[in-house]
Amino acid sequence: MSDIYCEQIIPGKLEVDIIYETDLVMAFHHTKPYWEQHVVIIPKEHIESLSSYPNSIALNKDLFEAMQYVTKIFEDKYGACRISSNIGSYQSSKHLHWYVHWGDRLVQESETPKK
Ligand SMILES: [Zn+2]
Repeated sequence: MSDIYCEQIIPGKLEVDIIYETDLVMAFHHTKPYWEQHVVIIPKEHIESLSSYPNSIALNKDLFEAMQYVTKIFEDKYGACRISSNIGSYQSSKHLHWYVHWGDRLVQESETPKK
C-alpha cells in the first residue's frame, strides 16, 4: 500500500495548502476533500497509526497544538467540526493522520479513493 504522506506530501512533491507546520507535524487542506471543509493533520515521522504511536512528549505537544489551531479555525468559521483517525483496515494510507472536517460529505464511503 502506498503512503502518500511519506512519498509525496512531506517531501513536497505534491503541493498542498499548508495551514500549520512545525518541524514535527503538518496540517493542510485535503487535495480531494470528502467534506465541504477537510483538513489533514499528520506527524512528519512515519508512524503507522495510533496503535503504534510512540507517545513522544515533543510530538504530543506539536500534534495537540496543531489540532487546537485547526479546530479553533473551524469553530470560529463554521461553529463546529469533527476530528477522526482510522486504524487498521479502515486506513486508506498506513501513515497516522487525523481528519478535521465540517459540512456535508461530498464523497461517499464506497467512493473513497484508495491511495
Ligand atoms: Zn509514512
